Amino acid sequence: MAGQFSGTPIYILREGSQRTAGRDAQRSNIMAAKAVAGAVRTTLGPLGMDKMLVDTLGDVVITNDGVTILKEMDIEHPAAKMMVEIAKTQDQEVGDGTTTAVVLAGELLKQAEALLEQDIHPTVIAAGYRAASEKSMEILRSSAVRISAKDEDLLRKIAITAMSGKGSQSARDELAVMAVGAVRSVVDEDGTVDTDNITVVKKVGGGINDSLLVSGVVIDKDRLHPSMPKSVTDARIALLNAAVEIEKTEVDAKIQITSPDQLQAFLDQEETMLKDMVDRIAASGANVLFEQKGIDDLAQHFLAKAGIYTVRRVKKSDMEKLARATGGRIITSIHEISKDDLGKAGLVEERKVSDEKMTFVEQCVNPKSVSIILRGGSEHVVDELARAMEDAMRVVGVALEDKMLVPGGGAPEVELALRLRAFASTVGGREQLAIEAFADAMEVIPKTLAENAGLDQIDSLVALRSAHEKGQKSSGLGIDTGKPVDMLKLGVVEPIRVKTQAINSATETAVMILRIDDVIASKSGSGAPGGMPGGMGGMGGMGGEDFE
Ligand code: ADP
Ligand code: MG
Repeated sequence: MAGQFSGTPIYILREGSQRTAGRDAQRSNIMAAKAVAGAVRTTLGPLGMDKMLVDTLGDVVITNDGVTILKEMDIEHPAAKMMVEIAKTQDQEVGDGTTTAVVLAGELLKQAEALLEQDIHPTVIAAGYRAASEKSMEILRSSAVRISAKDEDLLRKIAITAMSGKGSQSARDELAVMAVGAVRSVVDEDGTVDTDNITVVKKVGGGINDSLLVSGVVIDKDRLHPSMPKSVTDARIALLNAAVEIEKTEVDAKIQITSPDQLQAFLDQEETMLKDMVDRIAASGANVLFEQKGIDDLAQHFLAKAGIYTVRRVKKSDMEKLARATGGRIITSIHEISKDDLGKAGLVEERKVSDEKMTFVEQCVNPKSVSIILRGGSEHVVDELARAMEDAMRVVGVALEDKMLVPGGGAPEVELALRLRAFASTVGGREQLAIEAFADAMEVIPKTLAENAGLDQIDSLVALRSAHEKGQKSSGLGIDTGKPVDMLKLGVVEPIRVKTQAINSATETAVMILRIDDVIASKSGSGAPGGMPGGMGGMGGMGGEDFE
């Protein structure tokens, strides 16, 4: 194992560790990062393509959502993983702009490569990039448009822009109305938005236009027994995270039953216990029961007799939503149940949505709880709708929090490029080159939008540049014509945070990757980076590590 002792080299690393240093390390990191950006760039913009992702189990996801694509890909290269992190952060912080952020980072690195070739030190590039990024924040803020919760129309446009490329036009309009309605009902006076108050119920079947926004909580389950009331007004709601069943004993006890009487006695005893449980629930004053675990058949019968609207096996997340909406407390033991734990709602009712029965909990104590029922022809459609909806709600929320929006369609990026070039000339020296490279990198967004729309990149960019030179700050790419269009008038708008976050994290990551001049990868059977066992066959060969 100890290797050959033929020469005099001193090994400080375990045999098999891989080390690349200097320009080689930079080159391979940049290449990997660019590859990640290249993988998502064709999805950018309203005319971007979709990707079909198949996981190891054969499950299929069809999406053009940057972060979804990158999360599903089995990426192993450490620098490439840093790119994936950009998308994840963007998704957490904003909920949109994931592709933009990754494409920007890729382009920043590509531009840096050219500077490295000219022997400009990474430290200088890093300083220039950071200065340019800071300046960008300033420029973006100075040209942003103010927005408030009252600007319903603008908020809808923000939602529609975020959903561009997802679903049909009419679906987007519909979803935007719901997203804005939902978010506006959960926003606080100080502008903070808590999307935890919004329940999204996915339901396959029907069309997208059958989707609806309901105030209150919708649980995708019907009542347990047909003889329970179908509708309860002035509901007092018990939330129970315990089974209404006889606990099976741990020990495998055998009971010898020797006569029919004994059997009857035994059954009677079980019945009494269940009856007792239901009595306790009823005694608390509850007329509705949401239960997370199982309910014995016999108990169902007693609950029906007691007139308690019961839903069983409610998801944990739904229980939490119910608790929040109704002001109830989730109880873990039937013995604990008391009047004070009950939640309240004006109406609990079973209703049919198309052909499916669901439970609607309306007029809740907490008026800030709303639900959205998403309908669509297939699971893939509904899943993609849910992702679109999630994005829409997030951007509307973010816009309300920051109260600022910017035009889309590459307008801010072209404006930034223009203003950063002017800024660069005031800086001078080698850093100027880095700032100019940063400015050039910004233009990858309008260029890629043009490319994905089947337009000529250069022509489109030249036209946009000249519009901005004339002071048309909100000029973006008209994707049908390739001509500059006022994006504010067209209604293609985004919350400012989509851009500030994307630029910030793209810059930070590009700088971080640039500053690495040594990659030392330990060899250890299972500790390989990303060590997911049994990864995709196709990728397995890449590391070149044998198991023998
Ligand atoms: P991301 O993951 O970065 O959000 P998208 O595929 O959603 O990627 O594309 C976002 C880009 O598309 C933004 O630059 C946005 O301004 C632009 N965009 C969206 N709708 C339009 C439109 N109708 N016309 C031109 N550009 C648009
Ligand atoms: Mg988007």
